[in-house]
Amino acid sequence: SKEIIENLEECISNYNLDDKVSVHLTGCFGFCAKGPIVKIFPDNVFYIKVSPDDVDEIVNSHLVNNIVVERLLFEEPSLDHKKVEKHSDMSFYKKQLRVALRNCGNIDPENIREYIATDGYMALARCLTSLSQDQVIDIVKDSRLRGRGGAGFPTGIKWTTSKEASADQKYVICNADEGDPGAFMDRSILEGDPHSVLEAMAICGYAIGADKGYIYIRAEYPLAIDRLKVAINQARQCGLLGKDILGTGFNFDIDIKYGAGAFVCGEGSALIHSIEGNRGEPQLKPYVYAIQGLWDEPTCLNNVETLANIPIIINNGSEWFNTFGTEDSSGTKVFALGGKVNNVGLVEVPMGTTLREIVYEIGGGIPNEKAFKAVQTGGPSGGCIPSKHLDTPIDFKHLSQIGSMMGSGGMLVLDETDCMVDICKFFLTFTVEESCGKCTPCRIGNKRLLEMLTKITEGKGTLQDLDELKKLALTIKNTSLCGLGKCAPNPVLSTLEYFYDEYLAHVVDKK
Ligand code: SF4
Repeated sequence: SKEIIENLEECISNYNLDDKVSVHLTGCFGFCAKGPIVKIFPDNVFYIKVSPDDVDEIVNSHLVNNIVVERLLFEEPSLDHKKVEKHSDMSFYKKQLRVALRNCGNIDPENIREYIATDGYMALARCLTSLSQDQVIDIVKDSRLRGRGGAGFPTGIKWTTSKEASADQKYVICNADEGDPGAFMDRSILEGDPHSVLEAMAICGYAIGADKGYIYIRAEYPLAIDRLKVAINQARQCGLLGKDILGTGFNFDIDIKYGAGAFVCGEGSALIHSIEGNRGEPQLKPYVYAIQGLWDEPTCLNNVETLANIPIIINNGSEWFNTFGTEDSSGTKVFALGGKVNNVGLVEVPMGTTLREIVYEIGGGIPNEKAFKAVQTGGPSGGCIPSKHLDTPIDFKHLSQIGSMMGSGGMLVLDETDCMVDICKFFLTFTVEESCGKCTPCRIGNKRLLEMLTKITEGKGTLQDLDELKKLALTIKNTSLCGLGKCAPNPVLSTLEYFYDEYLAHVVDKK
């Protein structure tokens, strides 16, 4: 993409178009399967799979002679392979509703002016000049926004608890420690629209009475970190972070803290310990960090995607946010759609969209005319959902009813060639590796579970092993200390329920 930008700038200059055309870097459009993407405004023409060598043709044909370069357009299979110019006409985007991702692909994330031009920092200004702390919290509460990091806890209640806790010092933390294999929702928001998160943190700080925020981000996200640094500096220079924001007397500043890539540090208490410089281990509940969190002070911890929703909720109102979604879960959810699906990418849909719509309409179905087998949601802690549940509307409640979970938004599609026992082994290998070792059920139990799965995949397992597998999985689920251990057996339990025949095919005494 960098080379494409350089070539575009050079080529535009060579054709003497500098005063008519400018090149803007953006974040991700979400359509990973078709990148790199070049979009031409105001025509809205969307070129896919662009290479640096295509640049001269784009400039000469489109910009100089006003002729669209057909070969770089998306071919829409559902329209009898018609070439489509505008991304809003593509099946990949048609059913999407981009709220958290509203600016990704549309603005230069390194230019605060572009964020401001899309109503950026208007919500913060409104909060500081015309809304009380309680009014801000009421809007968030009425929106029924639930945490997008996995647990789905109501955001407004979290904010109320932090606000009501009495202390001289309070903190806002943004959890950007996205660790699920294959999940990149938060990274994309931070790379494509970092100011939306900064603005939301400042709004949260105002609402709960905090003047200090931390973004806890994994060090493996260098581009997101760079863009956050640029955004924080620009916001400070514009008086939108730091002392006396917009002349209102409100102080709020943000620092970045780096995670070393431990999956368990996405858990709230482990994350807080890690920021404090301690070992990133979860703490036994009850542990209410909204009251006693970072350095024992009230702390409001929200995930990146949750925060990205806040400014637009304040601007458009809670009623607007409630117009999409389900009774259980309002708004939208971003998913990292991957695996055996044609249109791999980042998709944002209203809660209540069915798995079938995501896999077949947005995702374009399974490649090579293979049959769908399952979709795994919720990352390594989620469950595998078979085809009979493809029409399940996706929200927090329905996913847990069918043995899976929303998680942070990983969505892996599996086809008829995938072995479900192998898939389970893959995820369990990850959680065993990432267990912090503090509690016995997770440290030892999950290891034994993995050994049993390995034995079964090697064709040495027995029917009795399958019974033991289930018993042990349930014990770990019921007795582990934190969510990592509690949810690690989910892939095993859901595949034992829905794909028992595949386990039977591996054992030696089938009858
Ligand atoms: Fe650590 Fe696993 Fe216990 Fe969580 S469940 S505290 S990750 S050992």
